[in-house]
Amino acid sequence: MEPSSQRYSWRMVEVGQPLERIDDAAREPDAGEVLIEIAGCGLCHTDLGFLDGDVPTKAGLPIILGHEIAGTVVAAGPGEEHWIGAEVLVPAVIPCQECAMCRAGRGNVCTSQLMPGNDIDGGFATHVTLPARGLAAVPALPDGYELADMCVIADAVTTPLQAVRRANVTEGDFVVVVGTGGVGGYAVQVAAASGAIVIALDIDDAHLTPLLDHGAAGTLNVRGLDTRAIRGAVRDHAASHGAGNTGWKIFECSGTPQGQETAYSLLGSAGTLAIVGFTMEKVTIRLSNLMAFDAAAFGSWGCPPQRYPEAIELVTSGKVALLPFTRKVPMADLPQVLEAAHGGSDPRRTILIP
Ligand SMILES: [Zn+2]
Ligand SMILES: [Zn+2]
Repeated sequence: MEPSSQRYSWRMVEVGQPLERIDDAAREPDAGEVLIEIAGCGLCHTDLGFLDGDVPTKAGLPIILGHEIAGTVVAAGPGEEHWIGAEVLVPAVIPCQECAMCRAGRGNVCTSQLMPGNDIDGGFATHVTLPARGLAAVPALPDGYELADMCVIADAVTTPLQAVRRANVTEGDFVVVVGTGGVGGYAVQVAAASGAIVIALDIDDAHLTPLLDHGAAGTLNVRGLDTRAIRGAVRDHAASHGAGNTGWKIFECSGTPQGQETAYSLLGSAGTLAIVGFTMEKVTIRLSNLMAFDAAAFGSWGCPPQRYPEAIELVTSGKVALLPFTRKVPMADLPQVLEAAHGGSDPRRTILIP
């Protein structure tokens, strides 16, 4: 093992205060646990929310944030030795695998779930000790990829994958994704990989334009448009791609009241609405539209670990591209990265490299 001076963790001690660099928070793994040498950890909007005090971490403070972790297992507790040397992805939510929800295949809503960087220490560090359950082995990577690049799968790819599978998106479906920064951009790619005709809606061309090369059949910048104009424009897209006005599958990924109102207004006969983004704000909608249109709406939270191999395969097969949508920065520069993140305009997701 490396000398401890080369191992460190960034600890969040207080809301709104700079992270504190400490020697190493990772302990020797107990039974059922592994010690992971981190290759890369994604910086998520959720982390910024914790840091700003918008949302408290479930474990309280201090805590090491970071829940999009890829790395190599370098030590393991009793029973998990077979992981040593493996390159792995840590699920953003680690279910208990024993409760009724876990047994029903819905571990993403396990009430005993552990989220790194929220319930337990996470990946803003060189090393982290975590439960081995739910780990996904990373196979041979495509050209140009390194292990660190894969970390964003843990949240940004698996979350929309779960929603797209639950909506039964198949060949020829007409899909609308509302809000295409981060998660929504991958929703576009995953739905397109499933054979759907996908239209991407956002208020920022920087989010929309790259998607024309990665899954979007069309884009629509909705800034300044009212719902009637948006609906008309989306119908035009549907018509130009030979899709009708029924059976649309709509994914709300913006997590904003405006996005939610837009998404709901697009719901028509036999439509499906998936709520993937989160906001505390409320919207006023006519719920009876669901009845009148024989439509369905559901919420999608995270992704159970058993779907991770499929998410990894989408990337290794080249169906979902990560590299145009991420940028890598040194983990050592995390405080400066966080400073810049608040006023940042780079639409790419940040991966921290120890
Ligand atoms: Zn996240
Ligand atoms: Zn459980």
